[in-house]
Amino acid sequence: MSTQRETPTSTPAKRRILGPCSVVFTAANTGSWRLERPQLDESKCIRCGTCARSCPTDCITVSRDGCPVVFDWYYCKGCGICVNECPKNALSLVKERGEH
Ligand code: SF4
Ligand code: SF4
Repeated sequence: MSTQRETPTSTPAKRRILGPCSVVFTAANTGSWRLERPQLDESKCIRCGTCARSCPTDCITVSRDGCPVVFDWYYCKGCGICVNECPKNALSLVKERGEH
């Protein structure tokens, strides 16, 4: 039996149940209003999974193979929590439309 941590994040129906506000927040497709998005520096990532565990929309998948961190851009809100929580500073926020 899989745990919530192992649940794929590709559909809202499979996401963690965090409470009424979080459910709405999580289930809503982000659309075009996100201003910033997290960007990964793969050379710093140790695949620890801290970012995935801290994401309020559960939209990060950490993999042992290939790219270590995959974001589900339909649900990422650009809140930056994953960036703050990464112990290796492997994540940074960049402007959504390349305005840096
Ligand atoms: S928290 Fe940082 S080091 Fe850990 S998996 Fe996420 S990006 Fe990689
Ligand atoms: S910016 Fe926020 S919503 Fe997007 S992946 Fe990071 S913690 Fe999750």
